[in-house]
Formats: sequence, structure tokens, C-alpha cells
Amino acid sequence: MNIQSKKSFAVVDYEKCNPATCSPEKGDCPAVSACTHKVIKQIDGVFEPPIIFQHMCLACWDCIEACPMDAIERKHVS
Ligand code: SF4
Ligand code: SF4
Repeated sequence: MNIQSKKSFAVVDYEKCNPATCSPEKGDCPAVSACTHKVIKQIDGVFEPPIIFQHMCLACWDCIEACPMDAIERKHVS
């Protein structure tokens, strides 16, 4: 039997991420509000890129759908 323990989670590409582009007035990240599991947060405040608590990520990819800059990617580790 081939048992694989694979973990998938979302990662922010900080080269692409820019909250001021997504939300010029408020600086809030649309991906944060899209994550109903509260796994992605702007811990440094608005106008700062979010961070993802990868160990809590459920790989639902709602944040990827919500990010207009394609700044969130799927990552798979085994
Ligand atoms: S939606 Fe995407 S580009 Fe915009 S702040 Fe969030 S992660 Fe960054
Ligand atoms: S993949 Fe889903 S659980 Fe993970 S950060 Fe994105 S929206 Fe949240």
C-alpha cells in the first residue's frame, strides 16, 4: 500500500502582494475576509501584506479566488 502524507497550504508571494492596489482606500486584503477559517491575517495592520498560518490552512483556496493580483499560491509538501 502506498500511503502518502501530503500537506497543502496557501502561501503569499510577497513580490506580487500589494494591499494598496487591492484596496486603495482601506488597505485591507480581500483574501483575509475570504478566509472563513481566519487563517490569513494582516497582523501588521492595513496596507501591510497578510501572513498565512500554514499549519492551520485547510487548503480550500478561497483566498486564491479572492486575490486579484494572483499573489497567493498553492504549496504542497510531502
Ligand atoms: S488580495 Fe492578494 S495582493 Fe491583495 S493584499 Fe491580499 S494577498 Fe496581497
Ligand atoms: S486556502 Fe483556505 S484556509 Fe487556507 S488561507 Fe486560503 S482561504 Fe484560508
